[in-house]
Amino acid sequence: MKDMMIDLEALGKQTNGVVLQLGAVYFDRKTGEMGPDFSYNIRIDDCRAKGLEVDGDTIRWWLNQSKEAREAVFKNARDLGWVLAKFREFYTKETKVWCHTSFDICHLLSAYEAIGEKPPFAWWDSRDITTLEDLSPVESVEIEETGVKHNAIDDCKNQIAYVVKHFKKLKASVRDVIKKWKIVLEGGSEFEYLTEKRARDELGRHGPKPKKMYSVVYVYTDGRWIEDEVKIIWEAEK
Ligand SMILES: [Mg+2]
Repeated sequence: MKDMMIDLEALGKQTNGVVLQLGAVYFDRKTGEMGPDFSYNIRIDDCRAKGLEVDGDTIRWWLNQSKEAREAVFKNARDLGWVLAKFREFYTKETKVWCHTSFDICHLLSAYEAIGEKPPFAWWDSRDITTLEDLSPVESVEIEETGVKHNAIDDCKNQIAYVVKHFKKLKASVRDVIKKWKIVLEGGSEFEYLTEKRARDELGRHGPKPKKMYSVVYVYTDGRWIEDEVKIIWEAEK
């Protein structure tokens, strides 16, 4: 599987906040199928010893969360370095890491920095849920939430259901994209080709003088093909 959802629970809004819990679940963005998962709690005092900080507002916020969420986040906690090493083992190179990037990725980067390491994923492998929402043809989708809210692994599974639903909406709205290359001759007749090479080869062969060559990207959306992007590639001198 090439996608992974991560979610972390923290004791700080700032990027160097204490990380209480790290959850991750592999998934398939097309089918919604879920694969191996990962969830560990992290010791607050170990995070603090490594320089991560606690924020009073976030502690107050946690006090208002459900008993199940509060209990789940503190039990069997491990050292920060141990959990991050486990996550490094769990992560397969080039997997796309989905989350709310300005929160989860930022916290994870500062957690790795606190133990003097770089994260296992590259910066270009992170994917943002809210950006997907913006691209999606619908503002929001309904999902049936399961598990305990603010338990990282349950949040991951709900976020996967949410992301996959948006992907399905995107797929339904844009079913296909094609590109064609066209040559216009003096007099207005037009020829189209499926590759740029073919069009360029033909450019010199036409009897009547070619006037211009351009490419068009067509997008199939809402049941019809529409011209999306026109780019002039060559034009005869006037
Ligand atoms: Mg969460």
